[in-house]
Amino acid sequence: QAKLKASILEINRTAARFFYHTLYTPSGAAGLQYFHSRGLSDQTIKRFGLGFAPDSWDSLARYLRSKGYSPEEAQMADLLIPRRSGGHYDKFRNRVIFPIIDLRGNVIGFGGRVLDDTKPKYINTSDTMVYKKTMNLFAMNLAKNAKNGFLILAEGYMDVIAMHQAGFGNAVAALGTALTPQQARLMARYVPEVIVAGDADEAGVKAAARDIGILRDAGLKVRLLNLPDGKDPDEFIRRNGPERFQLLVEGAEGDVAYRLQVVKNRFDLTTPEGNVGYLEEAVKVLATIDNALECEIYAGRLAQELSVSRDTLLGQVRDQRRKNSRILKRQQFREIQKQTAGYTD
Ligand code: ATP
Ligand code: MN
Ligand code: MN
Ligand code: MN
Repeated sequence: QAKLKASILEINRTAARFFYHTLYTPSGAAGLQYFHSRGLSDQTIKRFGLGFAPDSWDSLARYLRSKGYSPEEAQMADLLIPRRSGGHYDKFRNRVIFPIIDLRGNVIGFGGRVLDDTKPKYINTSDTMVYKKTMNLFAMNLAKNAKNGFLILAEGYMDVIAMHQAGFGNAVAALGTALTPQQARLMARYVPEVIVAGDADEAGVKAAARDIGILRDAGLKVRLLNLPDGKDPDEFIRRNGPERFQLLVEGAEGDVAYRLQVVKNRFDLTTPEGNVGYLEEAVKVLATIDNALECEIYAGRLAQELSVSRDTLLGQVRDQRRKNSRILKRQQFREIQKQTAGYTD
């Protein structure tokens, strides 16, 4: 088992070297040009070990064979795919390559992107003996040394790389999945706070809303980066530069402000009913804030915004808290009932 894992890691490293070196050969020119066209420097390419998988069914297969690795071993690394008719072919073809590296510096997997709009845009290594996508974060090996006291969580490889190149060495990304509790706990081992920098599109906003809960559950403080419509961090930096991005980072607001905004957007505030609805939902948000001071600050803002008294509002928050704890108690009671049900008769 341990031996198998070691050999998969060794194959991965060999493949990563192959992909990287290919960038600087004629068969990788398209990949190099692609990275340059997206604003990446050769230094950045080297730092991330980016590469290119040639437009061929067996260039990696032949290379690995020449280095003495069997196709079966490479298949366990999910680099070669078996053919039904026998033999193997390269999983990554005609794609730029993003190696995924763990905290110890092992190459555990790869992402690969097409050079145009073909679908699927990205493919990734499936889970192998050394790679569990739910347990790892892209660029965490670099970001863990950044020591800013917070990490920036983005959606994509290119976002992370663009941020690092722009001087934000504390950027990481989940790997083509929704953020998992394990990934959140991994971040919590290194920092007390995470700034969520998801894409400013519908999918990104939804994902961010869910990520907030997972990060909070891991004990992390959460702030949200407010990108203008439709952009992601990579596009923003390309268009506006690192200094403007720095301002966004500094202006990132806590998740309470974000959750209040989400609630607010659901109501028509030109009507009294809309205002009441907003207030009721906002009270529910405030009731989840553990920090009393933070709660009072937001209650104050909200009171001013809706011209109600802050004390009335805080009273409602207290009522909501009592309601929540009654609900919680009832749930716990039902759980106990369920657990003991078998013993009653
Ligand atoms: P680019 O800027 O290169 O066009 P992106 O990172 O902005 O890509 P998104 O569509 O925002 O692309 O996707 C975010 C991330 O989700 C990607 O970086 C990748 O890790 C993952 N991803 C996207 N599409 C797929 C897919 N088809 N299969 C698996 N993972 C994917
Ligand atoms: Mn996206
Ligand atoms: Mn992008
Ligand atoms: Mn994106």
